[in-house]
Amino acid sequence: MFDSHYLPLINGRFTAFSEETFPASNAATGEELATITRSGKAEVDAAVAAAKAAFAGWAATPAAERAKLLLKVADWLEENTERLVQIDARDIGRTVFELPQDYRQAIGQYRFFAAAILTHDGWNNVVPGGWAIAKREPYGVVGQIIPWNVPSIMVSFKLAPALAAGNTVVLKPDENASLSTLELAKYLAEIFPPGVVNVVPGFGEEAGEALTAHPDVAKLAFTGSTEVGKIIAHAGASRLAPVSLELGGKSPNIVFPDIEDMDAVVDNTTFAATFCNGQSCLAGTRLFVHDDIYTEFMAKLTDAFRSIRIGSPLDPATRLGCLVSSKQGERVMKYIESGRSEARLVTGGERVEVADSQAGWFIAPTIFETGNKTTIAQEEIFGPVLSVIRWNDFDTMIHEANDIPYGLASGVYTSSLRNAMRTADRLQAGQVWVNQYVNLVDGSPFGGYKASGLGREVSKETLHMYTQLKSVMLAE
Ligand code: NAD
Repeated sequence: MFDSHYLPLINGRFTAFSEETFPASNAATGEELATITRSGKAEVDAAVAAAKAAFAGWAATPAAERAKLLLKVADWLEENTERLVQIDARDIGRTVFELPQDYRQAIGQYRFFAAAILTHDGWNNVVPGGWAIAKREPYGVVGQIIPWNVPSIMVSFKLAPALAAGNTVVLKPDENASLSTLELAKYLAEIFPPGVVNVVPGFGEEAGEALTAHPDVAKLAFTGSTEVGKIIAHAGASRLAPVSLELGGKSPNIVFPDIEDMDAVVDNTTFAATFCNGQSCLAGTRLFVHDDIYTEFMAKLTDAFRSIRIGSPLDPATRLGCLVSSKQGERVMKYIESGRSEARLVTGGERVEVADSQAGWFIAPTIFETGNKTTIAQEEIFGPVLSVIRWNDFDTMIHEANDIPYGLASGVYTSSLRNAMRTADRLQAGQVWVNQYVNLVDGSPFGGYKASGLGREVSKETLHMYTQLKSVMLAE
């Protein structure tokens, strides 16, 4: 299933200068899966040089030809989903139950941008004495850095629009989740001209910083923590390179008393807080439940949390796997400890042992009853930990839902269109889901308000992010 060693993809070849490596480990068992070259400045410099050399040819390739290759990537992912799901499940501890949906989402992105680029023209107009034309042109070399939680989706969000628009790319996957990306890289090397896509696995402070600081990288695109996002934004600002950022979240999920089907809302809000083992920027981790239904709702929610099946990520019956690493596990447990002192623990709160997976950080799905200003309710935890906040006054609830640095996603559950719309209007969030959660639709702009990011992915907006406008005026 794995090669014993993976190298960076630079200029169409798997090659490296560095002999340093880092391990990819099974998140549940600790077993070493493979070693990976630890890319440093030399690899990044070579990758950027290759991308720079490939740019003119790729930008001049007709959009339909570029689109054809993206469609091939989608087909390849479709054919290889099962294998890649097995790889990711071992590499990051996500469940084989959930991961196929990541691949469907990723595949959709390659197909969406293959189609969207064909209609992404500028405009032209006859003006007195001549013509005015606005052209959309790619930036050049784009440096892209992604996190570990949803690798296939992150790669698709980054590569598909950048390549469709005619940019060349140097992509740095996360050090905790490089394997499926490096497997995909083998296919990319087969079909793309050398240098168009380069992949440099490695660490943030080495390969990541070398990429963000490189003067030939014309645009930076980052998904990850808000903290690192600020570092990337500074690096871009220092040489006025545009930066797009998809960052953290602590999303409110709001339950009105007029919901028609409480069981369905309990299912949705449970899923919102625990999918991805709780390690999602989109997780609905602050649940606002109305006073009138609070007791009944909490009883059902607690049952739902307790009945989530925890187990090996490879068992198809498992619904909650393990966190990506011991570092992440310890971080989540620290938050749970702080929650115990500032809020009421309703259920969960402990590490769970799973047979044959002793190295894995399996955390029981956890609920705290709390106010909105506690640490547990304000900070992104990135584990299956939910803060429940009781509400009865609409304006106070909206104030609290917005009283957070983040603004990525949100959910509203109600049978009233008026409640849905007035809540959606006032929430400071890039996504508002009504009576559903985590439905990312190809073409629907995705991104954050406030400290959750800058720019929009998944949509035609993204092609604007990866192109710059040039006005050409012609005399008659
Ligand atoms: P992180 O910010 O620690 O790391 C993300 C990436 O940045 C990794 O590839 C890492 O190697 C690199 N990096 C770290 N330091 C760097 C530096 N100084 N210079 C350049 N690169 C550097 O994030 P993480 O812990 O891996 O991922 C979790 C975070 O990602 C959460 O905050 C989550 O909300 C966010 N996230 C956001 C979205 C979104 O679309 N908004 C999606 C997924 C994850």
